[in-house]
Amino acid sequence: MESILVLTHADESGFALTKASLEAVTAGKELATRLSAQLTIGIVAPDASVSAKAVANAGAKLLAVAGPAFAQPRFASDAAACEALCRAAQATIVLAPQSSRFARVMAAVAHRLGGVIDTHITALTAAESVEAARWFYRQRIEAVVTRSARPWFLLLDAGTHAPFAGDSAAAPVETVQVNLPALRTEVTGIRAPKQDQQTIRPDAKLLFVAGAGWTKKQPDGQVHTGEAAQLILDFLRASGASLGSSKSLVDQGGEGNSILPFLTHLNQVGQTGSTPRHAKGLSTCCHGEEPHVVGWRFIADRRAISLDPNCGWTRGKADVVYIADAFQVMAKLNELLQSKN
Ligand SMILES: Cc1cc2nc3c(=O)[nH]c(=O)nc-3n(C[C@H](O)[C@H](O)[C@H](O)COP(=O)(O)OP(=O)(O)OC[C@H]3O[C@@H](n4cnc5c(N)ncnc54)[C@H](O)[C@@H]3O)c2cc1C
Repeated sequence: MESILVLTHADESGFALTKASLEAVTAGKELATRLSAQLTIGIVAPDASVSAKAVANAGAKLLAVAGPAFAQPRFASDAAACEALCRAAQATIVLAPQSSRFARVMAAVAHRLGGVIDTHITALTAAESVEAARWFYRQRIEAVVTRSARPWFLLLDAGTHAPFAGDSAAAPVETVQVNLPALRTEVTGIRAPKQDQQTIRPDAKLLFVAGAGWTKKQPDGQVHTGEAAQLILDFLRASGASLGSSKSLVDQGGEGNSILPFLTHLNQVGQTGSTPRHAKGLSTCCHGEEPHVVGWRFIADRRAISLDPNCGWTRGKADVVYIADAFQVMAKLNELLQSKN
């Protein structure tokens, strides 16, 4: 009989569980139902009684490691907390979000418990045995993994399950004591770009992709990079979309050409870039070549604006293609968005 533990952690406020943690709770609940297994939720938070409210109705036993030492992500305290929760739950299967906080410690926790770990899991099924799916080779090959070794740790990719949403209620939480090792690291503050400068927004509903066409000569024979930058930033501000890019556009910085200063290789979508998961995607001034479009694998509704009626998007890679000048379309779109706000 399997015993399933879902490890969760609080967000930066210290109170709410992260969205990815709540997604792991959904995955744990589904798996526990299929296996008729015991479900436990382990919480790492400064004040677990507050964080636990969101999962009070998940039908799980609640364990927590709490206290000021667990307010900040830090290898020594997080690894000790997760280890203590796993031992207390006597879990055979441990699910956790693939957040930077947990991804950093979970291989070590698995090692301390003599277990095994798989990462970037996108789906779980259970029939004869528990099966976990993940993608390899830049999302081109999907593998299904099953293991007999226990405990089996599975880190779940964000966006693959709906976040658990139950009525908030007070819940009985059993506190697990942790013997903390000497702590040498203290987070003294966070330096992050201002929200409107942060262009990669994994939780956004829309992915907006900029292609190299924004920096190419336009029908008047001139480049309009400044205007392109303004149109893109105005759209991101008004829509809250996440910004992706083609490789050709982000590579231009190394070739001495005029570039859009807010783009880095972290924005690159595709075979050698990222494979984001947003409900919708809008591609602009991008040709839609296969190495780029493979990064759109998990975008549900794909639209593109291109001047070229023979571009890759029109060849079955997008749901809707607007053969139009993206400068004009985005200016009109921004105008409409501004009049709405
Ligand atoms: C091994 C390998 C890995 C790769 N990995 C990636 C990857 O991870 N990601 C990636 O993106 N690419 C990748 N590439 C590169 C990829 O093949 C393409 O070269 C790249 O995606 C092209 O970028 P682009 O479409 O923005 O530029 P272009 O091909 O230059 O296309 C620009 C488009 O903009 C259009 N346009 C111009 N002006 C306007 C306007 N005013 N309005 C509307 N449309 C306009 C043009 O008609 C054209 O279609 C890889 C290539 C290789 C060989």
